[in-house]
Amino acid sequence: MLVYKTQSPAETFLFGQKIAGLLTAGDVLCLAGDLGAGKTLFTQGLAQGMGFREDVTSPTFAIMNVYEAKIPIYHFDLYRLDYAEQLYDIGFEEYTGRNSSGMAVIEWPDKFPEALPDENLWIEITSGQYTEERLLRIKPNGEYYQKLCEELKVIADTCFRYSDPSL
Ligand code: ADP
Ligand code: MG
Repeated sequence: MLVYKTQSPAETFLFGQKIAGLLTAGDVLCLAGDLGAGKTLFTQGLAQGMGFREDVTSPTFAIMNVYEAKIPIYHFDLYRLDYAEQLYDIGFEEYTGRNSSGMAVIEWPDKFPEALPDENLWIEITSGQYTEERLLRIKPNGEYYQKLCEELKVIADTCFRYSDPSL
């Protein structure tokens, strides 16, 4: 697991923007964390890094937004979802499968763990000591994401002044 400290919204956005180049169709990014943690802000950076210039907002009511970026980004928010069946109805398994035509970003993934692919990149954002401080805990699930994480670490090390070497 990698742990980093972001000290401003701009820093979180920039990190998303910078790692965009590592991601490809079939990748699944799970973004856990409370309301206001910065999941959507991070996704905005990611979308911009993939060349998407329009608005990116939490698809809380829509369940999914699609951004036609360099590769399509399927942006999910499971916050208001009551049943996993609603996900299957909209084709969640295809959007999040290895053969998906785009990449998936999932906010509130912990609401329906059984619906998620076993392999994913899990990022948890929690608040820190100061108003604009957040901790990013980055955990690769599966061999594919372990490799991805090695490249991600190189980028993250240039983005953040603080990382926790003990973890
Ligand atoms: P979520 O999608 O997790 O509910 P948002 O991304 O919509 O959260 O909102 C995060 C809010 O927290 C924004 O208003 C943002 O400006 C603020 N914020 C403050 N510090 C940070 C930080 N270090 N990283 C991300 N967002 C931050
Ligand atoms: Mg959000």
